[in-house]
Amino acid sequence: MICLYCGDNPPNGKVMKICRNYDIFFVIFAIGNNGHDMRTRLLGLTPAELSSIAVSSGLPSYAGKQIARHLYVRKVRSFDEMTDISREGRARLAEAAEIGLVAPSGSVLSSDGTRKYIFPVETELGGKRVESCVEAVMIPDGDRKTLCVSSQAGCRMGCHFCMTGRQGFHGNLSASQILSQLITIDESDSLTNVVFMGMGEPLDNWDNVRSAIEAITAPWGFAWSPKRVTLSTIGVIPKLRACLDELKCHIAVSLHDPFPEERLSIMPVQKAWPLADVLSLLREYDFTGQRRVSFEYTMFAGFNDSKAHADALARAVRGLECRVNLIRFHKIPDFPYESSSDEAIEAFRRRLSAYGVTATVRASRGEDILAACGMLAGKFSKTSL
Ligand code: SF4
Repeated sequence: MICLYCGDNPPNGKVMKICRNYDIFFVIFAIGNNGHDMRTRLLGLTPAELSSIAVSSGLPSYAGKQIARHLYVRKVRSFDEMTDISREGRARLAEAAEIGLVAPSGSVLSSDGTRKYIFPVETELGGKRVESCVEAVMIPDGDRKTLCVSSQAGCRMGCHFCMTGRQGFHGNLSASQILSQLITIDESDSLTNVVFMGMGEPLDNWDNVRSAIEAITAPWGFAWSPKRVTLSTIGVIPKLRACLDELKCHIAVSLHDPFPEERLSIMPVQKAWPLADVLSLLREYDFTGQRRVSFEYTMFAGFNDSKAHADALARAVRGLECRVNLIRFHKIPDFPYESSSDEAIEAFRRRLSAYGVTATVRASRGEDILAACGMLAGKFSKTSL
């Protein structure tokens, strides 16, 4: 288990330390290794998939619908709570499958009510099991409560300004690990929105993210409107097309610089999937109805906050029904730029507005608990949630 921020490896059993890079308390939980559990995780499966597991456990096929109701409507934590399935049936089910819930190891509360939860996760990478932890952040705002969830342990996209990218990649989260973030937190029943803006690139874990979003929005699942779900991506083009074709949730694209060479210098993804191609793909879809697209633009002083950048950004998104979210940057070690000043951000916003581009400046939330987390902290806002 490593510290999310400094990569330090605490001795087993040590539960709290001061991160050496940030002088903040950061809770680290050592978790036990109880051997690999080969049972199927039910959370994230469709009623049809659940039916086939039920049948293979000697239950009638309609038990699939019963199990789906227990998982997604009643949010049960054990097979014992599935009382409309016989005791013997539950026992057989428990031999073949597990619910797949992962509870948070702890949480940190910000003075503004934002709460960051830490989840221990076990992932697979190169055939090996990896233990690490991921975050989910609950952001209250009036009568809204938005949860920012992680989709991967670490990330392999390597954006230079992002602490998650610095940690390297430890594996994809399963649909059950993603859904656990929504189900096991204290505010689960009062959540109004979910944003896939936490650790990882959601479209680099497309199958599991799609399963999770399907469970969140399907009538047999949480039955949320897709308007309550936003997926943030740096533009993994093949999966972005699949996402646009198969899901109806909102899309947020991390843009950060309109000039290809400059963008490449901070976002290696620009080489594989250039921004121009991402924008061309988006233009094939209609964002004038329920589904929205927005662009994330983190402001780095003296790097991407000039008038020329605003002009190029306005040209780049011209004709797209969209919004640009301007984000203050939280400084991280070994990245040369600081955040643009409030005045520079506001001037940039006004210049975009003069072109008819709707642009908003994000209100920072949970700075006292998130400031160390580079990209995560930068992604939260009142305006976009
Ligand atoms: Fe990955 Fe997003 Fe961080 Fe880039 S900004 S390294 S895509 S988590």
